[in-house]
Formats: sequence, C-alpha cells, structure tokens
Amino acid sequence: AVRVRFAPSPTGFLHLGGLRTALYNYIFAKKHGGSFILRLEDTDQTRLVPGAAENIEDMLEWAGIPPDESPRRGGPVGPYLQSQRLELYAQAAEALLKTGAAYPCFCSSQRLELLKKEALRSHQTPRYDNRCRNLSPGQVAQKLAKNPKPAIRFRLEEAPAFQDLVYGWNRHEVASVEGDPVILKSDGFPTYHLACVVDDHHMGISHVLRGSEWLVSTSKHLLLYQALGWPPPHFAHLPLLLNKDGSKLSKRQGDIFLEKFAAAGFLPDALLDIITNCGSGFPENQMGRTLPELIAQFDLTRITCHSALLDLEKLPEFNRLHLRRLVSNATQRHQLVEKLQVLVEEAFGSQLSDRAVLDPAYVERTMLLRQDHICRLQDLVSPAYSYLWTRPAVDRAQLGTISEKVDEIAERVLGLLEGSGGNLTQDVLNAELKKLSEGLAGTKHSNVMKLLRMALSGQPQGPPVAEMMMSLGPKEVWERIQKVLS
Ligand code: GLU
Repeated sequence: AVRVRFAPSPTGFLHLGGLRTALYNYIFAKKHGGSFILRLEDTDQTRLVPGAAENIEDMLEWAGIPPDESPRRGGPVGPYLQSQRLELYAQAAEALLKTGAAYPCFCSSQRLELLKKEALRSHQTPRYDNRCRNLSPGQVAQKLAKNPKPAIRFRLEEAPAFQDLVYGWNRHEVASVEGDPVILKSDGFPTYHLACVVDDHHMGISHVLRGSEWLVSTSKHLLLYQALGWPPPHFAHLPLLLNKDGSKLSKRQGDIFLEKFAAAGFLPDALLDIITNCGSGFPENQMGRTLPELIAQFDLTRITCHSALLDLEKLPEFNRLHLRRLVSNATQRHQLVEKLQVLVEEAFGSQLSDRAVLDPAYVERTMLLRQDHICRLQDLVSPAYSYLWTRPAVDRAQLGTISEKVDEIAERVLGLLEGSGGNLTQDVLNAELKKLSEGLAGTKHSNVMKLLRMALSGQPQGPPVAEMMMSLGPKEVWERIQKVLS
C-alpha cells in the first residue's frame, strides 16, 4: 500500500514551500488510494517555535489536505511526534552498536568546535576526523567508565548508487566529505538521519517525497537501511520552489506563511492551484484546477528537475477564478454569503445604520453582481465598496458646489425610479440618466453623475453611477436620494 509522509520540523509556521511538499504527498497518496501521514520532527528541541506544531496541522486542514494520521488524529503507528519515540531510536542505535555499524564517540564539544574552526580557517568544509572510529574494546570500556553517555556515530561506508524517481541515478560521496555523523546524541535524542530512517521504516512509508535539499542525505539513509537490514522506501525528490526571479522563497518577509494568506482572504484552492501551476507533475499548466482535478491529472513521472518559479503577483487572478467557481455553486455560495456577512459586520459594524444590508438576499445579490470585479470576498468591504453597506453622510452644501440643481436632479431620479416599476437594467438606466441630463438645460451630464455618485456613496470617485444604482437596488437608491431633499 502507498504510504507517504510530510515530516516538517516544528521550527516555524507552515509556508508555501512546506505546503507544496505536503500537497504532492497528499495528491500521490490519494491518487493511489494510500495514506498521507503527518510526522513532526521535533528532535532539535532548541529550535522549536511555540505554536508551530499546531499551526502546521491547522493549516493542512485549512488547505483541504488533512493528514490521515498525525499527532492530533493519531493512527496505528504513532506517536507521530519524534520526541515521543526516543525508545525506538535508542533500540536502533543499540542494534547498530552491536554489529559495529555504529560506535560511541567520546570527543568533547570543545574538540569538535576546534576541528570546525580549523577547517573553516583553511577554507575547508568541516569534517569529523573519525577519531573514535577505531577505539579498541579496552579503550571504549575505559572511556565509558568516565563518560557513560557518549554520542553514537554511524560508520559511513561507500554509499550505494540509487535511483531517485525524479532525479534518476545518484551517488554521493558522503563518507569522504563529512566524516561519520552523530546519530544519537548523548542526551538520548536522535539526529535527523537516524530518526527519519527509523520512523519511515516503522511507519511503513512506501515512498519518500521531499524537497531536493535532502537528496544528498539519501545516501546516508540508504546506508542506515542497509546496516539495519531494512528494505528502503522509494525516493522522489521535489525540485525547489523559488520566487519568479529564481531567488529563494523568503521566509523573512513573512509573506509566504499560510496563515497570512488565510487572513487576507485567499482561498485554499487558489493556493493549491498556483503552487501546482508553476512546476511539473501534470500534463500541462492550466489555471483553475481543483484538488480532485489535480489528483486525477497528477503523474509522478512528469516531475522534472527544474525549479518551480512562483509568481505570487498572479495569486489574485487565481483567487478570482476559484471565487467565481464557488459562487456558481449554490451550497458554496451560501457559505460565502455567511462569510461576507461576518466581514461586513467586522468592517462596518457600528456604521451599519440599516441592518437590512446584512439580509442574506441582499448580500448574495451583491456578491453575484460584483463577482467579476473582485478577486477576494474581502474586496467587497474595501473603502471603495463601503457604499454597499453604509449610508453616506451627505453634505448638501458639497452637492451644491457640484451643481445648483440638486433638488431638480434628485426629483428627476425619484421620478425615474417610480416610472420604471423596478425593472431597470444597467443599460436602460444609463440611457435614462443620459436623457435626464439632457432635460436639464445648462447642466453637464458628467456633473449630474458626480452629484449622484456623491449622494449615493459620499465619495467623489467610484464605480459608474448606474452600476451603483443596480447594486443598491431601487428602494435603497430612493431612500438615499430622498434624503438629499430633506
Ligand atoms: N524534518 C525534515 C524537514 O524539516 C524532513 C525531511 C524529510 O522529509 O526527510 O524538512
């Protein structure tokens, strides 16, 4: 059975890069009727960020790609937090010590620091010199008496070649480059390599889909599988997700975290769509795909080694597409209406002189009328659209500076509304307003429009007057114009 995992370290909140790794895992699992597992790799306790573990799981749920097994949901091979699995890593380290594939290391941190400094000074990559590799049993016993909790290092042999499902054949000279890695620290916590291999094995992981930055580690992992006598999973490394200009996706700017997009009103579907549209894995790039479509079209063999270049400026456009799709579905539209009601209440609460604007029918009609003009639902509560929800404080004196014929214009508009019997289209309304201006000798049409816009919205600029009137509806227009006269 296909079992895949997303294994982030809770050292930060979920961002777009992590979402993409999780998404490819999710899609691959669902495509093959398998399971998608969330495992939190929290063994480096010094780098934990409060709230990150919760955020990662919350955001996967928000994005619509919830794990089947996770710290929160549990599952048959838990716990899903590495810090709760120390026993398993200790057992594996013990087994490796028994066969001699691992050995205790008594080097002090000062000595290791010194090695590092020396290497850096001579512009070399720091490398452990494997000093403790060949201690005799007698030496080990002697040192153990003084230091009963040494770190455990893994004896790196020549790495086997392996076939990555994306990058093809690979072999990395890890042994000569890095020296033997610590797999279990003296405090009993494993390092990434051991924990990852032990968990992938015990959790029955069939395919490891992860970022290409881990490609080099895979050689070490394969050596560990070999030494432990376990069959390794398949590996597929995913090319990096970069900015449009090829630079690294910046976490520092704080604008790639999922919760920011969620708070700004972007739809999860739009995010899933944009991050699968800039890379490979699908027959073609095509905007507007939904998760079921992504699952149907995904093909692991179509993933290429090229980095995916993300153009976030296009996100509003992606969002517009998905928003329109949701609006066209009755059930989804109903939920959007409820969301918009909340947004209106939040944005204008105390200014809502007339609670009728929160009426679901009005909110729904407004959304339907405006859907082509907005990217996010939030756009409908921006200042430009405040006229939809609040009545303007109309300043008669100001209206008077636009045209002297305030009363006459207002009366004619009321007449127009009465005569129409409520059956106005935007085109008819435009024509009628034109006629209305023509009937007022000496007043320019543009000034009539300016005046009406001000009367209806309290703002000198904004959407075309006919559009505003259509959105507000004849009754509300009547009341706002009537107010001008009083
Ligand atoms: N904990 C690693 C990370 O933060 C996981 C790498 C892997 O998937 O093996 O990305």
